[in-house]
Amino acid sequence: PYERMQKVREQNISPSLRMYYKKPLLLHQGHMQWLFDYEGRRYLDLFAGIVTVSVGHCHPKVTMATQKQLARLWHTTNIYMHPSIQEYAEKLTSLLPDPLKVVYLTNSGSEANDLAMFMARLYTRNFDIISFRGAYHGGSPYTLGLTSIGLYKHGVANGFGCSTTMLPDVFRGPWGGSRCRDSPVQTVRKCSCSEGVCHANEQYIEQFKDTLNTSVPKTIAGFIAEPIQGVNGAVQYPRSFLKEAYQLVRERGGICISDEVQTGFGRTGSHFWGFQTHDVVPDIVTLAKGIGNGFPMAAVVTTKEIASSLAQNLHFNTFGGSPLACVVGAAVLDAIEEDGLQKNSEDVGTYMLLELAKLRDKFEVVGDVRGKGLMIGVEMVTDKDSRHPLPDEEINQIWEDCKDMGVLIGRGGLYSQTFRIKPPMCITKKDVDFAVEVFHTALQRHME
Ligand code: PMP
Repeated sequence: PYERMQKVREQNISPSLRMYYKKPLLLHQGHMQWLFDYEGRRYLDLFAGIVTVSVGHCHPKVTMATQKQLARLWHTTNIYMHPSIQEYAEKLTSLLPDPLKVVYLTNSGSEANDLAMFMARLYTRNFDIISFRGAYHGGSPYTLGLTSIGLYKHGVANGFGCSTTMLPDVFRGPWGGSRCRDSPVQTVRKCSCSEGVCHANEQYIEQFKDTLNTSVPKTIAGFIAEPIQGVNGAVQYPRSFLKEAYQLVRERGGICISDEVQTGFGRTGSHFWGFQTHDVVPDIVTLAKGIGNGFPMAAVVTTKEIASSLAQNLHFNTFGGSPLACVVGAAVLDAIEEDGLQKNSEDVGTYMLLELAKLRDKFEVVGDVRGKGLMIGVEMVTDKDSRHPLPDEEINQIWEDCKDMGVLIGRGGLYSQTFRIKPPMCITKKDVDFAVEVFHTALQRHME
């Protein structure tokens, strides 16, 4: 029973694993965008695990391929050949532009970013890595130097030659969302842009240059960024910002890493990879979460030249690239293509953003609706003028109410003030209507 499980959790499971909701859900089944609890209640999963279940819970095709491979061969470690790893590497790299053609398979996003940092350092023979405030790049000791959300850092995880750049407020909510961001919905904030010149972008670039020149003038190895910040609540940069940032980093001898852990595999709709929305080609991309639809696998893809810096010695991990993982990964890629999920992300995501923007216009506490495709942030504020984060108890109430009405939503942002909506990409417009109505009811109750 539930109470006994809770007791075991308290006694035998790490207390740092915090669960969602006052009374955490006890789930027992999933089907595509739906989850079911033991009492038979059904929930629309707008968070897809944590942005992991890209093509749908227990997607029939992925499940079938996994079952077949389970009965054939799970694992051998990469000291032997098996066909699935070649097939997967070929399939994955066919979706990436030149010169990103060399794949390393790992097991988690943190491990992928650890490896990307290591490669940047080996290749450049430099040390410092730049990331943005508000970024999440992992929870391993190495990547915690890049992750800048305080909650995860335990007050000790700075250093390791990492610098974060940009003031915290620059990439928050309606504050940082200039009209130039690449989204079907615009912020309610008046923007100072004129005649095609984005002043916010100019200001950010100046700050970025300043960090490069003062913190890492001669020691930069790399720069890592998510194309849209995920854990920070779908925070977007001005349109040309990342492109200019890449150029500044490369001029100083650093390499550019795109963390596609959340933005990859069609989630942003218009493109398969988030970096494509910024018109850049990174030197390294890191992939996890949606890559395996919830199966633990991850990847780093880079150029032949950068890969060669690692090839001088042996680099190895035991589980990465197992036959099972490669078969799952290939089935996920097939499902995205066969089910038209990238296009669905674009169509349904745009529809949802526009529907949510109506709620933003109606309710004072909905401060910002932003994002692209099925990567959406809804920022909750006390009022649109002050833009202070809505107090936690009030956000929790709205959030719990949505859950009770059958809609599961993620949380994020520097103050946990942003609802994160990143459902399995098979979600429909009818599901969106249901979710928006539930959210509307919860907001209305909050106002009463
Ligand atoms: N990068 C990004 C953008 C992420 O969102 C996450 C996980 N939230 C990671 C890296 C780390 O992935 P993992 O939890 O698989 O280590």
